Amino acid sequence: MQAKQLVLVPPKLLFSMMLKCPHCGKSPLLMAGSWINFSAGCKICNYKYEREIGYFSGASWMITYSVASLAAMGSGALMVWKYSELGDLVVAGVPATIGAFVALLFIPMGRSLWMYFDHRFHPLTEDDRLDDRP
Ligand SMILES: [Zn+2]
Repeated sequence: MQAKQLVLVPPKLLFSMMLKCPHCGKSPLLMAGSWINFSAGCKICNYKYEREIGYFSGASWMITYSVASLAAMGSGALMVWKYSELGDLVVAGVPATIGAFVALLFIPMGRSLWMYFDHRFHPLTEDDRLDDRP
């Protein structure tokens, strides 16, 4: 039996932002009912989403936490500027909470964007097949 071919079309940023396969835009990245866990791969394009163990760690640190930090710093600056009469604990606690929620909300998008940029600069190869058959 012949293995499915690996589809090698360039990834599209819009598909990634919709949390769909960045190549075909049809397969959902997330497992059904999960906010964090990605599916094994795209069954249409036939490649693994997680190319190696720890593949999405870079997404968490470089994209998700950058966005969360910006949200926390922006809301902190706004609180200091507009609500300076509030106590220090409130001015520190509210932005920290906002940053934590933004991080939780942005995890799938960060992973998806990481996948898009990785595929853009490090295109898929036959080693990235979803089915491991030769
Ligand atoms: Zn696909």
